[in-house]
Amino acid sequence: MSDRLDISFVTLATDPEAAAVVFAGEGVELGSKARDFDSKSAGAISKAAAAADYKGKLKSTLEILAPAKIGIDRLIVAGTGKGSTLSELQLIELGGAVVAAIQARKGSTASIIVDIDGTEDLKPEDIAATIAQGAYLRHYNFKKYQTKKSADDAASEKDGLKKLVFHVAHPDKAKAAFQPLKAVANGVNLARELVNEPPNILGPVELAEKTKTLEKLGVSVEILDVKDMEKLGMGSLLCVGQGSVRPSRMAIMVWNGAKGSKKQKPICFVGKGVIFDTGGISIKPAAGMEDMKGDMGGAAAVVGVMHALAERKANVNAVGLIGCVENMPSGSAVRPGDIVTSMSGQTIEIINTDAEGRLVLADVLWYAQEKFKPKLVINLATLTGAIMIALGKEFAGMFANDDKLAEELAAASRVTGEKVWRMPLDKAFDKAMDSRFADMKNAGGRWGGSCTAAAFLQRFIKDTPWCHLDVAGTAMDGAKTDFNTSWGSGWGVRLLDRFVADHHEKNEK
Ligand code: MN
Ligand code: ZN
Repeated sequence: MSDRLDISFVTLATDPEAAAVVFAGEGVELGSKARDFDSKSAGAISKAAAAADYKGKLKSTLEILAPAKIGIDRLIVAGTGKGSTLSELQLIELGGAVVAAIQARKGSTASIIVDIDGTEDLKPEDIAATIAQGAYLRHYNFKKYQTKKSADDAASEKDGLKKLVFHVAHPDKAKAAFQPLKAVANGVNLARELVNEPPNILGPVELAEKTKTLEKLGVSVEILDVKDMEKLGMGSLLCVGQGSVRPSRMAIMVWNGAKGSKKQKPICFVGKGVIFDTGGISIKPAAGMEDMKGDMGGAAAVVGVMHALAERKANVNAVGLIGCVENMPSGSAVRPGDIVTSMSGQTIEIINTDAEGRLVLADVLWYAQEKFKPKLVINLATLTGAIMIALGKEFAGMFANDDKLAEELAAASRVTGEKVWRMPLDKAFDKAMDSRFADMKNAGGRWGGSCTAAAFLQRFIKDTPWCHLDVAGTAMDGAKTDFNTSWGSGWGVRLLDRFVADHHEKNEK
């Protein structure tokens, strides 16, 4: 992973670094520390704001170079906008915007002075920690394979931002508040990194092996190889990888964090991990095929959320399961017309070898329910291009057989800003998956492609509350945000972490 940003917390009285950020509300309303700077520097802030017509609008910044008499080379004023309460998401965005302003020039350290008043819900230390999380997320980049940098880039890399010092009223409290937020950000950055890695480096075996990095956090990891999966009868998952020279794997990550009852039924997170999807014999067109390295975005999010839960020692039992395969055309590849038998015993006629993700999920979902008897299952998959036709790249499609589960996810989505939109499960879509020759076929035709895909998955769900998130539009190449400039977005990690924290953790302490 790229170098992590070192974040620390000190008192407001500590001397700031050569570059420092202060916040200003609408109308350039300054906090106590910023007012102090302003008066000591004979009104540097108020004069610059007036000259630049700066108003302190949310996330807008004003840079003042070499202000007199306060021992700072660069003073950046960052707007917090109107009113006194910012949402958690706005604070994360603010942290990202602040890092972008700092990174506009070279310099390896900066101070961020957080003298924003707290509210009943959000204490000053929470505000500082949440801004820090946004900063940490924004700092992530993926430049490890770019060896020939321009002179400017080389300078910014060498002299780039490495350390942020937050000046706060209660450093110990802020540091404690940041710890779980940093854990979640590490999970997001891990998911981003896995999606960004090229498919020659990150094959099915390598993706599965990456889960072992979670062992140091107390997660137990088991990896099943092709023989193991043959024994389990996973003919659906295995047919996808049979055309590749790289063997398939399934990785299982178990986090038993529930305090008191180790027997508490786990939540299962299941991810599609197609490390590269050529389409197989039903090969895809050439244009844009390189993006299919991101076809493991669902699996990456599952690894990321398991990392987040374990690092912040979440009070929950959770299991992450990812099916890792490569979909290639070759003499041994699965063909249209082939009939395979899934672990559930149900047979599947292959119509289109590019509808492979559902074949992987069918067996992993079945295994998850058989082995762990979970209280609920959520799967994430870059499953259909059709979901982008329906919802664009802002929303993930949410299919759920349980209204309570869907509402809990929607509530978490409203907090984190990772948007979901509920889509229909329906008998008509299920009917479209009937096959002439087998129990079902793997492709339901042109119309409602995301809905028929979901109907296929539902045939592998017993009476477990279940949700399928189609993240084809959101896992990669989404709109850049204040706290994400990465191609691989890590979408879903914050959503699922919040879902656990708000609905499956605190209530059951
Ligand atoms: Mn495909
Ligand atoms: Zn795919």
